[in-house]
Amino acid sequence: MPDYDAIIIGGGPAGTTCATLLAEKGHRVLLLEKDKFPRYHVGESLMPFCWFTLERLGVVDLMADIGYTKKHSVQFATQDGRISAPFYFFEHLDHPAATTWQVERAEFDLMLLDNARSKGVEIRENTTALDFLKQDGRITGVRARTEDDKPFEVTAPITLDCTGRDALFQRKNGWRKRDPKLNKISIWTLYQDAMRDPGLDEGATTIAYLDGRGWFWNIPLRNGIVSSGIVAERDYLYRDTRDPAEIFAREIENNSWVKEHLSQGHQFGEYWVTGEYSYRAEHCADDGLVLVGDAFSFLDPVFSSGVFLALKSGEMAADATHAALLSGDTSATAFASYGENLCGIIEVMRQLVYAFYDENFSFGKLIRAHPHLRAKLTDCLIGNIEGQDFSDLSAALKEFADIPAPLEHGRVPSRLQPDESPVTPCSNETIS
Ligand SMILES: Cc1cc2nc3c(=O)[nH]c(=O)nc-3n(C[C@H](O)[C@H](O)[C@H](O)COP(=O)(O)OP(=O)(O)OC[C@H]3O[C@@H](n4cnc5c(N)ncnc54)[C@H](O)[C@@H]3O)c2cc1C
Repeated sequence: MPDYDAIIIGGGPAGTTCATLLAEKGHRVLLLEKDKFPRYHVGESLMPFCWFTLERLGVVDLMADIGYTKKHSVQFATQDGRISAPFYFFEHLDHPAATTWQVERAEFDLMLLDNARSKGVEIRENTTALDFLKQDGRITGVRARTEDDKPFEVTAPITLDCTGRDALFQRKNGWRKRDPKLNKISIWTLYQDAMRDPGLDEGATTIAYLDGRGWFWNIPLRNGIVSSGIVAERDYLYRDTRDPAEIFAREIENNSWVKEHLSQGHQFGEYWVTGEYSYRAEHCADDGLVLVGDAFSFLDPVFSSGVFLALKSGEMAADATHAALLSGDTSATAFASYGENLCGIIEVMRQLVYAFYDENFSFGKLIRAHPHLRAKLTDCLIGNIEGQDFSDLSAALKEFADIPAPLEHGRVPSRLQPDESPVTPCSNETIS
């Protein structure tokens, strides 16, 4: 008899979404988290369609009570400081979701973890999953370690790997496949009392361009704090020093909008650096295991899609897991549709990311040539992707940018694709 119905590794947005929705369905759920919350995490800018998962989790009112900075738009700043026409979400979407938030992740993730606990999830913080238990080729649970270094094992018919960019299963099994062209690095930090734009634009995310298609993000948080970061090619950023503070100071000089805004405030705390930018796992599931959020795939954050994809994949994985537990089949095949649908959503965003980095592309050019596609483009920027056909947008993007073919990996292992499963023999056939 397994100890739990489902074990979830990782208490970020993907893990807490899976855990909460499964517990609400009456399953016995254990969530292991290596840190003690609250803890710092990058990724503060939400997409409007996060609203629908947050609503399903029952936390939208809580979000309003906490009073996160309201984000009505995303805007783009040229190197000489000109702001392009912002994408105001309410011009496209007549729904409360049109106003989204800039969240301090320490508080946001804690809120989601507390919510999971209140819905019946057993949560063990300061507990690190070390490896996966395996029996007859299927995952049967997790080997983990408590804060005081005590090893233990827990079992369940399904384990959901939600370990973020640590991506425990990917790393243990060599399943990580980098996106060949999206190999950037990022350096980021926090500012106090930097300049804010007035009125509706106060909470906007600003993407400010640098040479060679690098860019700054500017995300206004509460209490006069701004999250500011650079994403660019390694060779560009490290061209004359590897010191993150020096690189940051140098690049501020390369965009007038950023310079004007940040020079009024002061930097505080750490400079964080990350490489290993965009990747997707070889497969989304194995027998007894499913990968969710960044533990499955990470896409360059230029359109703030990370938390949206973590929440969305969390919701999709929870629904697939619930069905799998009810049917008693938690093999990888049970997650074939999950993988197919999730890869489809990621591919739409991925095409837009590739376009963004192409020297020949600009949103202005695209909209001038195809004004009727503005709505489709805005759908991508707000996360309204599921179930829509974006082939017309895709064809238009190809006029201006080198758009890649969809990645072939990320589905369940082909030996397990339902359409490739062994054909049931007719009565006059024999199985050799
Ligand atoms: C530079 C940068 C900027 C970004 N900006 C944005 C943005 O503006 N907007 C946006 O939406 N997204 C952004 N993202 C992406 C966003 O941070 C992630 O996509 C999102 O946090 C993914 O959620 P998750 O739940 O999958 O993983 P995480 O939020 O990383 O959660 C994973 C959890 O698993 C825990 N864990 C890991 N290993 C173990 C283990 N072995 N045992 C137990 N627990 C474990 C970790 O402690 C962590 O709490 C950015 C990312 C980067 C790198």
